[in-house]
Amino acid sequence: MTNLLDNIRPTLLMGPGPSCVPDAVYAALAKPTLGHLDPYFITIMDAIKEQLKTVAGTKNQVTMPMSGTGSAGMETCFVNLVEHGDPVLVLINGVFGKRMQDVAERLGAQVDVLEFTWGTPVVPATVKEKLATKAYKIVAVVHAETSTGVCNPVAELGPMVKENGALFLVDCVTSLGGMPVAMDKWQADALYSGTQKCLSCPPGLAPISFSEAAIAKLKSRKTKVPNWYLDLSLIINYWEGHTRAYHHTAPINMNYGLYAALYLILQEGLPAVFKRHQEMHAYLVQGLEAMGLRMAVAPECRLPMLNAVGCPEGVDEAAVRAKLLAEGIEIGAGLGPLAGKIWRIGLMGHTARKENVDTLLAALKKAI
Ligand code: PLP
Repeated sequence: MTNLLDNIRPTLLMGPGPSCVPDAVYAALAKPTLGHLDPYFITIMDAIKEQLKTVAGTKNQVTMPMSGTGSAGMETCFVNLVEHGDPVLVLINGVFGKRMQDVAERLGAQVDVLEFTWGTPVVPATVKEKLATKAYKIVAVVHAETSTGVCNPVAELGPMVKENGALFLVDCVTSLGGMPVAMDKWQADALYSGTQKCLSCPPGLAPISFSEAAIAKLKSRKTKVPNWYLDLSLIINYWEGHTRAYHHTAPINMNYGLYAALYLILQEGLPAVFKRHQEMHAYLVQGLEAMGLRMAVAPECRLPMLNAVGCPEGVDEAAVRAKLLAEGIEIGAGLGPLAGKIWRIGLMGHTARKENVDTLLAALKKAI
């Protein structure tokens, strides 16, 4: 009988995620499964919360991984904080801002959007003008827009959102673990991420963090959180306190994987990890430009871990990706209005290494 798993060929993951997984994380995933209320597993859960607080730059007690991918993190933030009719402002400059709009609308929020040209950042002055016109309950933005490779100025947005009286919700799916994330300094109230980008763990968990103001909003809701699985007021009883209550069976081994991934990041040290991402980004850009390729995003707002590169006229964008994949290298395509126009090259977490950049540059040169 054939076992399909015997034929999995390792792929150099240089797309928008998942990223390459270190051996120590694979080893962690293969450790013996404990019961979800086993005291030793609870010790590991508590350690993960501390690790996440350090990586996200927060002291928030409610900081934990949700079971599910990054989108579950997004839903957790909205479903717990939005009530029917709440005015919500979503800042959009790519696919994931659009997804936030969709999620908020499905919850019956009164959603206003401010859309900026894809491939350029959110403009704080425009946001300030909009905030002067209306009081919002939530303002939401994506820190690192994976669909375009743009970094949004969240640190500048925080104080204006607070002045408006709204909660500030930030998507850090792609940024967490690859560049500074300073939740408390940014005055963010709700943050979510995913494991498969710069944390270099397989997809499956969504770290989240809620500020005291966000928890106060959750506690003062007039209506029940409409989604049982993501209801933080229930899940907190599993992740906090002396006696833990069953909510759902936590994905035990995924949590081991996340623990190991965060352990590696903290062992290397956050400043060294960020420097490695920045240096590999600069090295990649230099190599791409030497080949005559052009970066699609202006240098001042480029993400180090997600590099959007223009596909030259007359080159078949999809054929190049297919050739690379045949050689065991994955890169990403453009999305939405950028489909067919750009490649997205990821340098996320464990992938951000010189040997990987060299391999990709050589293969790309041949493929073009
Ligand atoms: N937000 C951003 C910025 C992302 O890049 C992604 C995934 O690429 C998501 C949200 C959704 O995460 P997931 O695909 O893990 O559900």
